[in-house]
Amino acid sequence: MFARKSPDGRSDGFEILRTEMVRRLADHYHIRNERVLEAMASIPRHEFVPDALRSQAYKDNALPLSSGQTVSQPFIVARMTELLELSGNERVLEIGAGSGYQTAVLCRLADKVFAIERIRDLADKAETRLISLGFDNFVMKCGDGTLGWPEYGPYDAIIAAAGGPEIPPPLIEQLAVGGRLVIPVGTSQSEQILMCIRRTATGIKKEDHGRCAFVPLVGEHGWKQEREG
Ligand code: SAH
Repeated sequence: MFARKSPDGRSDGFEILRTEMVRRLADHYHIRNERVLEAMASIPRHEFVPDALRSQAYKDNALPLSSGQTVSQPFIVARMTELLELSGNERVLEIGAGSGYQTAVLCRLADKVFAIERIRDLADKAETRLISLGFDNFVMKCGDGTLGWPEYGPYDAIIAAAGGPEIPPPLIEQLAVGGRLVIPVGTSQSEQILMCIRRTATGIKKEDHGRCAFVPLVGEHGWKQEREG
């Protein structure tokens, strides 16, 4: 049911693998949000991984990017996106754009995406790739995402694909009332807890969504450098 050709309607040769990936997300990982599944069924994930790894793009694991970073596992992209509860009208802040794959998923599901990536080379490549694939409802900048992007806030949803020792206070400040922030948090650089923070009229509510392992969130409100903990 989720067999999708590439956005221009032509076959890209990966439909079968993409369909298997989406079926696994639904059947094994219990991803229930149809919009998330539809988005992931249509986005050419193989375009976001290094050329030598294209054949592995739809497998059930994270893949290496340049600069020691990783393209997140499909399941974690799906779970985090599901937790954002996007209906299509949202302004979303993304921290740690990496390859731009998560950015693409967000572009499909929200109104506008503000993406930040710390490593210049990754930010530039992700931006070029997304534009060449026809995504036009995002802006990308190179910078420290732990500071948020106050000029465009508040955001209805904020997602971070890297984990720090605390929830960066600027991200809570830039979250709209009713908004959701999904971020891995942990005192070790190798393991975190996936947290979903909701801003209410009177404060915040935190939900724990289990253990996870992300690359370090490096910045003013994150780790000062990689491999500390
Ligand atoms: N969703 C991305 C994940 C990339 S890995 C993908 O699937 O491709 C996480 C990214 O967070 C890395 O590229 C890393 O450089 C970036 N990162 C780490 N700390 C950051 C910070 N303070 N601001 C912005 N990006 C950061």
